[in-house]
Amino acid sequence: MIEAEALGLDTVQVFTRNQQQWRIPPLDAGSVQLFRQHAARLHFNKMVAHDSYLINLATGEQTLRNKSIDALASELERCEALGIFALVTHGGSHGGDGEAVGISRLIESINKVLDSTSANTLLCLETTAGQGASLNYRFEHIRDVMAGVKNAGRMAVCMDTAHIFAAGYDLRTAESTSAALEQFDRVVGLGHLAAMHLNDSLKPLGSRVDRHAHIGHGCIGLEAFGAIVQHPQLSRVPKILETPKGEAPDGRPWDAVNLQILQLLQAGRKTSSRAIKAILASNPVKAAKPARGTKSKINKRPLTAEA
Ligand SMILES: [Zn+2]
Repeated sequence: MIEAEALGLDTVQVFTRNQQQWRIPPLDAGSVQLFRQHAARLHFNKMVAHDSYLINLATGEQTLRNKSIDALASELERCEALGIFALVTHGGSHGGDGEAVGISRLIESINKVLDSTSANTLLCLETTAGQGASLNYRFEHIRDVMAGVKNAGRMAVCMDTAHIFAAGYDLRTAESTSAALEQFDRVVGLGHLAAMHLNDSLKPLGSRVDRHAHIGHGCIGLEAFGAIVQHPQLSRVPKILETPKGEAPDGRPWDAVNLQILQLLQAGRKTSSRAIKAILASNPVKAAKPARGTKSKINKRPLTAEA
């Protein structure tokens, strides 16, 4: 959160526990208080958390599924305690049993998670790249899961640009991006979007491979991000960078570079494209550096018009 403050962001995405381990130690009152104090001071009122990568709510292995249900329920409660707005989950993989079977298992698991908790934190299904046997790479999957859950009012969606692009939704131009957003609106509804992950994609359209790239350095390109940050219906949606971390060639953190590009795209001034070109030129990206599972994610100030 302190890193986010230094970058001038207005929200943050966190893991509320070690995302690689099943064991979830209890939250101590002191850390909860400190987290809430910082959030209040920074006016972070749409914070997002990401669930553990171990969770698979759609698996046919009963032990793993029960463990996943318990873990997600516990994460939802932690989010509630921390005042986190949305908990993002990937849903899971059907493991070869077919999408219809996977979706019905996912619905059953989510119902159990929601039944055993009373958190206000929204449980957000993230759009995926469709790697392996993972679900939710089609907007229709998300629609079907939301329709099958008993308490859909506690659910929402997180759209990841790199994932939907890899899943086959064309974002290479402003027009195709608007068309993809319209398609999402028709199938799921933009009103259900509670968060967005803004990542360029190292892998091409329809590759079904999830590799995040810096904004403007991937196969998506700048037009899509311009269309998204200027979209009036998306101004309320917290936007998070899950691009690779570390220091950019110009000496700044990569998050600061990506953020500045998004801010210039949002401003949309005549001088913006020249400024963006200069930023991209001074921050070349060498060999492809895969960025799976990057840690704390970011949002940028002017992009979330927080009420
Ligand atoms: Zn994501």
